[in-house]
Amino acid sequence: MPNALSARNVAVVGAGIAGLTAAIALARRGARVTVLERADALREVGAGIQVSPNAVRALRALDLLPGFQARAALSEQVILRDLSGAQVARLDFARHRPNDSFYFIHRARLQDLLAGAAQAAGADIRLNREIAAPPEGFDLVVAADGLKSALRPVLNGTEVPFFTGQTAWRAVIADTGDAAPQAEVFMGPGRHLVSYPLGPDRLGRNQRNIVAVIERPDWHEEGWSHAGDPADLRAAFARFAPRVGDWLARVDQAGIWGLFRHPVATHWQDGRLVLIGDAAHPTLPFMAQGAVMAIEDAWVLAACLDADHDQAAALARFQSLRQPRCTRIVEAANKNARNYHLRGPARAVAHAGLRGLNRFAPASLIERFGWLYDYDPTQV
Ligand SMILES: Cc1cc2nc3c(=O)[nH]c(=O)nc-3n(C[C@H](O)[C@H](O)[C@H](O)COP(=O)(O)OP(=O)(O)OC[C@H]3O[C@@H](n4cnc5c(N)ncnc54)[C@H](O)[C@@H]3O)c2cc1C
Repeated sequence: MPNALSARNVAVVGAGIAGLTAAIALARRGARVTVLERADALREVGAGIQVSPNAVRALRALDLLPGFQARAALSEQVILRDLSGAQVARLDFARHRPNDSFYFIHRARLQDLLAGAAQAAGADIRLNREIAAPPEGFDLVVAADGLKSALRPVLNGTEVPFFTGQTAWRAVIADTGDAAPQAEVFMGPGRHLVSYPLGPDRLGRNQRNIVAVIERPDWHEEGWSHAGDPADLRAAFARFAPRVGDWLARVDQAGIWGLFRHPVATHWQDGRLVLIGDAAHPTLPFMAQGAVMAIEDAWVLAACLDADHDQAAALARFQSLRQPRCTRIVEAANKNARNYHLRGPARAVAHAGLRGLNRFAPASLIERFGWLYDYDPTQV
């Protein structure tokens, strides 16, 4: 019997992280893949993303690891700090998960790697194609059109997201080549700031990523391309450690976006159309799993389709495997949003608890996320 996917005619809508990874996985398994992307070029936009071992397993299985590692920076630990810079706790991945690797990478560099690999696998990437309805003439349509998916409403109707009361800035600054391989989270009442080194840009220059979140009642639009004012960002974090001030002094462009909670989609597929990545389950950034879930989805979708000639059954299986996991991750990110911003006595108690765990049971700080990082999409 021929391979289940051979000569299947597949449209992938969106050349983001989910769409391009799916294009690679599907084309490698024999599908004829056309990627339809709205943008007129795959540009150097966006900022840093974190990639944990659960997604690294899929990248390895797709033979992308060497190219990925050449563009990424290693992440050995996360340090939680008070706004003064004093350490509250440390998640030491290098010590407690020695067999796994965590990385930081600029989204544009990951997209670039994936686009090259998709084309090498035979996928046809067409730019300037804004899709408003499932395109005709394909056996399967994979909707990987992101946060504001045009195809999600085809299966789920119109949904109204909920503003969390939080606004985020993101910025990339030049960095020294000797930055420690770690993320630092500075936690203040009603606000926090995360920073980590990124791998080198295309010209080999080192970069550092900054994401800063504050609670405020007025809101900004959701989206990746709204410009914020660096002076507002500096003012909002003026009371933070001097190191934070040094970083923020170097910001000359900052993106700003309102953080909205979205439900995980109820209906992911109808036998011909299937949602993956942010189109199915946009998440708040507080577990750093947006791109990671997109990569997991892409692998599992291709594996389900490859294992079953019955496309409708394969898509139903894909949803049943992925929906519970993505729901759990999205809920964990919702919960984390509150933890970083505590005020007054609740803050003192939480920080004392973290300091205690850090001292007496440091591994437990990471073990509570075992369910997240132990997942192997190539084995489900
Ligand atoms: C420009 C940009 C910058 C980002 N920057 C960051 C960042 O700094 N940090 C971070 O954590 N996450 C960022 N993200 C989001 C992150 O990439 C995703 O949360 C995650 O990788 C899930 O990927 P996805 O492929 O589902 O969605 P995305 O990566 O958002 O990709 C969706 C793709 O679909 C395309 N598209 C959308 N609508 C249509 C349509 N109607 N027809 C055709 N194509 C369409 C988009 O142009 C995009 O290329 C960014 C996303 C974008 C688009």
